[in-house]
Amino acid sequence: MSDDGKQATMPASMNGAHPDAAMRSLPDNLAVKCPKCRELLLGKDWERNLKVCPKCGHHAQLTAQERIDLLIDEESDFEQIDRDLVSNDPLKFVSLSGTDRSKLDGLADSTGLKESVVVGSGIIDGLPVMLVIMDFRFLGGSMGAVVGEKITHAIEIATYERIPLLIATASGGARMQEGVIALMQMAKTSAALARMAEAGVPYIVLLTDPTTGGVTASFAMLGDVTIAEPGALVAFTGPRVIEQSMHIKLPKDVGYAEYLLAHGMIDGIVHRRALKATIARLLHLYDDAEKAMN
Ligand SMILES: [Zn+2]
Repeated sequence: MSDDGKQATMPASMNGAHPDAAMRSLPDNLAVKCPKCRELLLGKDWERNLKVCPKCGHHAQLTAQERIDLLIDEESDFEQIDRDLVSNDPLKFVSLSGTDRSKLDGLADSTGLKESVVVGSGIIDGLPVMLVIMDFRFLGGSMGAVVGEKITHAIEIATYERIPLLIATASGGARMQEGVIALMQMAKTSAALARMAEAGVPYIVLLTDPTTGGVTASFAMLGDVTIAEPGALVAFTGPRVIEQSMHIKLPKDVGYAEYLLAHGMIDGIVHRRALKATIARLLHLYDDAEKAMN
């Protein structure tokens, strides 16, 4: 298990700008208020229910470590790669809230992560898989040069070793603090995925709330199989921004997983409780097909 596990217990609040950040909890996570329906829940029930609200079904964000623990076999180890790659703040970005460097250092302390993505290999239901897990707490899961490099590296290893790739997305898109360098990661990851597709290695995407911007416009939409968690916002631009800038009213569920499924953009919506079994089933189907061909 990685060092990140030390920070894996749920923080009292999230650092991202997403509504889940407003989740208020009492000391020691005794009680949690559902960020969607405001139902007050016992912290231990919330954890036991995998952070899915029993009343309204809201799937709250998971940390990368929680997602890994949810998916890989209990007795197997997650072997993390590129753990120490860190952004070198290429534009020396300064905002009203301080330098990018100081923000990155602060996030490393509060999340135990060095970047917004954790990559490595693990075992799901006895089968090896390369995992790329994004964590929205770290600068809104944004993609800069390091995130692009880690994802590309994972894709290349999966291609070379012929093991399926699973990417769980959670991102606000390209990291504006890295300007055009961040945008280039869209092409870099997509090109690596094209080589993987040519080699016939399977790629499963799990879209979690929220997945937007340059991540949606690149590797998040290139899966052989694409599944989403219920209620996940998946869009290039969020519906609220479209409405404000275009002065139009969109149908209620535009931009959410259910709308994408109804319009043929994704293959399925899977409750968090059924996620591991569903992914395991897909991996076994691919494994059986690979064996049948050899
Ligand atoms: Zn709720």
